[in-house]
Amino acid sequence: MHATLPRMAITDFPAIGRLALDTLQANLGYKCNQSCVHCHVNAGPTRTEQMTRPTVEDVIAFVEAAGVRTLDLTGGAPELNPFFREIVERARAIGVRVIDRCNLTILGEPGQDDLADFLARNRVTVVASLPCYLEDNVDRQRGKGVFESSIRGLRRLNALGYGAGCGLDLDLVYNPQGPVLPPAQDALERDYRRHLGERYGIAFDRLYVLANMPIQRFGSTLISKGEFEHYLALLRNAYQPRNLASVMCRSLLSVDWRGYLYDCDFNQMLDLPLAWQGEPRTHLRDVLHADLTGNPIVVKDHCYGCTAGQGSSCGGALG
Ligand code: SF4
Ligand code: SF4
Repeated sequence: MHATLPRMAITDFPAIGRLALDTLQANLGYKCNQSCVHCHVNAGPTRTEQMTRPTVEDVIAFVEAAGVRTLDLTGGAPELNPFFREIVERARAIGVRVIDRCNLTILGEPGQDDLADFLARNRVTVVASLPCYLEDNVDRQRGKGVFESSIRGLRRLNALGYGAGCGLDLDLVYNPQGPVLPPAQDALERDYRRHLGERYGIAFDRLYVLANMPIQRFGSTLISKGEFEHYLALLRNAYQPRNLASVMCRSLLSVDWRGYLYDCDFNQMLDLPLAWQGEPRTHLRDVLHADLTGNPIVVKDHCYGCTAGQGSSCGGALG
C-alpha cells in the first residue's frame, strides 16, 4: 500500500473552523465482509480493529453530553461489531437519529438473518453503497456477485417498508468507477430510480453522489498506475469556494474504534487527529463537556475532494 499523505501534506486549502456539532460519525472497526477497490478505509475480512465495551460507553456518554442529534455508524461493516445492536438501541432510546452505513451484502451474511428486521424495528436510516445500477460495474469495484447480493438486500429492505416514504429512509451512495468527478446528483438519481425501479422493482429515497478520495486503497491504486497527481490536479482545478461553507467536517466529528477524534473519516484514515487545546490527539473523554465550535479543522490537499464541482460529503453533493 502506497502512502498518499506525503503527496498532499503541503497544502494551500483554505483554513476552516468547526461550527456547532450535529453528527457523531463512529467508526466501529475496520473489519468488513468485502474488500472494495475504492475503499478509503482499506477495510476487509482480515482487519481486526473493533470498538470495545469501554469505548462504546464513551460514545454513548458523549452523544448524551454533547447533545448529538445524529449518530452515524460506519466501518468496515459496522454491523460486524459485537456492540452494534446495543449502540443502536441505546442511541434510539434517547431520541437520537441513527444512520447505518450498510454495504447491503452484510444483510445476507451468516448470523445476520434478522439484521434488516432489527434496523426497521429501530427505525434506523440505512445509507447503502451501490456505486452503479449496472451489475458489471458494481462487481468490478466491489467483487463478483456483490450486485446480485445487493439487490437481494434492497428487496428485503423494501419489503419492510424502507424507501416507501413512511419514515424508514433508504438512501443509496454512488461513487465513480475511477479517477473522474462524479456526474450531477439530480440527473443520476433519476437514472437510478428509473433503472432500479423498472428492472428490479427497487425503491429508495435519495441518491448521494460522492467523489472518490485519493487516500488508502483508491489513492494507492492511483499511485501504482501513475494517475495520482493527475487526479489531485482534477480535484484542485474543480475547486468551488461556495462548498467551503458546508463541508461535512464543520458540523460532524469522527471517532475511531479507540475513541480518538478526527474532523472526518478521511482524516481518521490518514491519521490526522483533531487537535484540541495544544494536545495533538484528542479522546472523546477529553471533550465530554467541551464546545468545539471554532476549533481549526485539519486540512490537507485531499480536502479538495470535498469541494470539487458540486461538492461531496457523506450526505452527497453539497447544497
Ligand atoms: S467500501 Fe465499504 S463495503 Fe467496501 S470494503 Fe470498504 S467498508 Fe467494506
Ligand atoms: S476531507 Fe473534507 S470533510 Fe475532511 S477535513 Fe477535509 S474538507 Fe473537511
